[in-house]
Amino acid sequence: MKENGELGGKGIGEGSHGTTQETCWKSVWSLKVPPWVKIFLWKAYHNILPTKDRLQRKGVMMESSCVFCNNEREELVHLLVTCPIVNRF
Ligand SMILES: [Zn+2]
Repeated sequence: MKENGELGGKGIGEGSHGTTQETCWKSVWSLKVPPWVKIFLWKAYHNILPTKDRLQRKGVMMESSCVFCNNEREELVHLLVTCPIVNRF
């Protein structure tokens, strides 16, 4: 049984460059960005990033502004796409 849930039998994809996901992450790790950015992306990808917005939904009361730009609501999409601070890197 394959760990990564890859479909297909023996011989498919073997000896090549692995899954698309692996290839994608290799390029992320090779980016010239601070290590925390990579960790951040990794966590965000796996959707385990404890953004304030998520905490609020769980009933944790706190501000919902972004920790980086202190501006818009801190949601995953803001952190990854629209936050001017994060996207400066
Ligand atoms: Zn922001």
